[in-house]
Amino acid sequence: MQTEIVVVGAGLAGLAAAKTLVDAGREVIVLDGDEAPGGRVRTDRVNGLHLDRGFQVLNIGYPAVRDLLDVDALRLRPFVHGALISDSAGLHLVTDPRRDPGGLRDTLRAPIGSLTRKFMLGAYAAALAAAPAKTIRDRDDRPFRARLAGYGITGPILERFVRPFLSGVFLDPDLTVPSRFAEFVVRSFARGTIGIPAGGMRAVPDQLAAALPTDAVKYSFPIREVTPGQVTGDFGTITARHVVVAVGGPAAHSLLGIPAPRTRGCVTYYHLADFPPVAEAALVLDAEKRGPVTNSIVLTNAAPEYAPGAVLVSSTVVGNEDPGEAVVREHLAAMYHQDTSAWQHVRTYRVPDALPVHTGPLRQPVALGSNVYVCGDHRDTPSIQGALVSGRRAAKAVLSAR
Ligand SMILES: Cc1cc2nc3c(=O)[nH]c(=O)nc-3n(C[C@H](O)[C@H](O)[C@H](O)COP(=O)(O)OP(=O)(O)OC[C@H]3O[C@@H](n4cnc5c(N)ncnc54)[C@H](O)[C@@H]3O)c2cc1C
Repeated sequence: MQTEIVVVGAGLAGLAAAKTLVDAGREVIVLDGDEAPGGRVRTDRVNGLHLDRGFQVLNIGYPAVRDLLDVDALRLRPFVHGALISDSAGLHLVTDPRRDPGGLRDTLRAPIGSLTRKFMLGAYAAALAAAPAKTIRDRDDRPFRARLAGYGITGPILERFVRPFLSGVFLDPDLTVPSRFAEFVVRSFARGTIGIPAGGMRAVPDQLAAALPTDAVKYSFPIREVTPGQVTGDFGTITARHVVVAVGGPAAHSLLGIPAPRTRGCVTYYHLADFPPVAEAALVLDAEKRGPVTNSIVLTNAAPEYAPGAVLVSSTVVGNEDPGEAVVREHLAAMYHQDTSAWQHVRTYRVPDALPVHTGPLRQPVALGSNVYVCGDHRDTPSIQGALVSGRRAAKAVLSAR
């Protein structure tokens, strides 16, 4: 087989690259080893339930999401702009007062630190929301925890709210993630709306794949070798003028010999509850770390479509250790202040390579020479935004090649 451009990988980066190239009138074939698009953004349909392969959210404040997707068609089911903080006394709603002025009283009373520290956190988030991208890009990079300390975000407000919230976002309980990347993420939270598409997170890659010409994406085509001008799998060899490798960091290391990123993992558990343990579509965080769960949410409070007529709870443990469903369920009882013994365990997803560890540069080169290109979240930031931007950057590099 022969084509102008072959893209290896139909995750968000590969699909963004293919869409950009097709929109520019170029001939593209996308090959993926899996049987559907999405890579790390997949949703299983199990007995009428939508189960995302690991809890994740879509932030429609991400610029690349707005540029490349028809956001309205995704039918986002938004989450509360904040979280429910659980401790042994009960559950306390903390929301962003700029987005939810009605929640100010609860937030001021919530046991997450002094009023002064709450104002410091609010001022920092508001400053990030208003900051131009260049301001953040030009700042020095340091472990995010150190940056937070510089703004007085230490002590209870860090331990009871900021750390439990963001460790689930970065899969990094110590918040060692570089501050520039972290500040971009906090800025997008402060500006955007997060939630899940009514049809599951897979609606995101499905929409990108559907925009490509019929037969442009071929599934169950694993590639084992990439050389300039050709890719090879069990089916044989495809020759192409340009080769774009849009696989995850570890697979890119195997195919291209580029350095392999370290990765972070998580384990997500799905339960059907007998009734909603809380009314809000809000992340529940444990201020007292009484067990292994980093965050939990009643998904059907936001998106009833995830489990029509039922109550679906998603709970995530950061790291690769699976503490076991019984331990998780016990911790959920403490977090929700509910008896969870009747909850039905639906499925556990272990995702060892969920995110590449981000080490600093916001952007890594995508052109490797000899018309071979690489994209994926490991070339940008470990996020949906990073994956989409990297794919678009690789496509632009192809388009500007002579
Ligand atoms: C559990 C979890 C939670 C997350 N939460 C969030 C979140 O809330 N917000 C956020 O912004 N981001 C989140 N992310 C990160 C985000 O999902 C990823 O950054 C993004 O999807 C990566 O896309 P990608 O295209 O770079 O890589 P991938 O999705 O890994 O795509 C690579 C593709 O390449 C294919 N492939 C690999 N090897 C080969 C081969 N040899 N031949 C052919 N095909 C191959 C794979 O099948 C796959 O389809 C989360 C990720 C996970 C896993």
